[in-house]
Amino acid sequence: MLKGKTALVTGSTSGIGLGIAKALARQGANVVLNGFGDAEGPQAQLRALGVEVAYHGANMARPAEIEAMMRFAAERFGRVDVLVNNAGIQHVAPVENFPPQQWDDIIAINLSSGFHAARLALPAMKAANWGRIINVASVHGLVASAQKSAYVAAKHGLVGLTKVIALETATTGITCNAICPGWVLTPLVQQQVDARATAAGCSNEEAKRQLLGEKEPSMQFTTPEELGELAAFFCSPAANNVRGVAWNMDGGWVAQ
Ligand code: NAD
Repeated sequence: MLKGKTALVTGSTSGIGLGIAKALARQGANVVLNGFGDAEGPQAQLRALGVEVAYHGANMARPAEIEAMMRFAAERFGRVDVLVNNAGIQHVAPVENFPPQQWDDIIAINLSSGFHAARLALPAMKAANWGRIINVASVHGLVASAQKSAYVAAKHGLVGLTKVIALETATTGITCNAICPGWVLTPLVQQQVDARATAAGCSNEEAKRQLLGEKEPSMQFTTPEELGELAAFFCSPAANNVRGVAWNMDGGWVAQ
């Protein structure tokens, strides 16, 4: 389905981004990976799927580095056909104790980076009259939780940005949609499980059960593989007229 096309997935050295990159590679897309930590392992996993892979280590908090990454992708593969804005971080604290630097970093990485990557990807997508922009938001783009002011503000903003891009591209072959996961057991959430286990003096398994029990009626984590398949659907011809949706995959979290 995506043979000959190029997907750039931000924050794809682990977790959800890597799951989405693999699903798009399984559809034949060449992939540009981005993110911190080990990049060799993820690149090898993708090459094993028979596609071409490149890596750029841009810090998504820095617009100049995002510009360099988009130039790198265009030079390497011609253009970016599928842009997945996935990089994200979390910090948990009440508003009055929330460190201002953490607020700025979360807005920059979880929200503004999606704007910068999209504004740089859109001209070539418009010239080709085909493109897919997929923003990995969160259930926290639809509803709030205490202690997550910056994250909830950024993810609500990302859902808003998704709708605007969808409207501005509505008569073209470009679509823009958001994915809104509930709990996914990635390093980002494992940190919250660990903090809960330490605070409550309980086991890791009990902390996971409590985390799910508070929010997710299915009592199951969504997996990066499941989210990857949703991203692949957004790239499919069947999704040509799916525009500006914020699609939750959350075990019933926002149905309550
Ligand atoms: P993760 O920590 O496993 O992965 C985050 C990725 O982003 C990593 O590759 C990391 O290196 C990269 N990254 C972090 N800061 C970066 C920066 N400044 N520049 C470039 N890359 C950077 O987390 P995850 O759970 O896979 O999260 C991925 C996305 O999914 C995030 O936007 C997150 O908000 C969202 N999300 C996660 C969950 C969940 O339960 N895990 C739920 C809803 C939404």
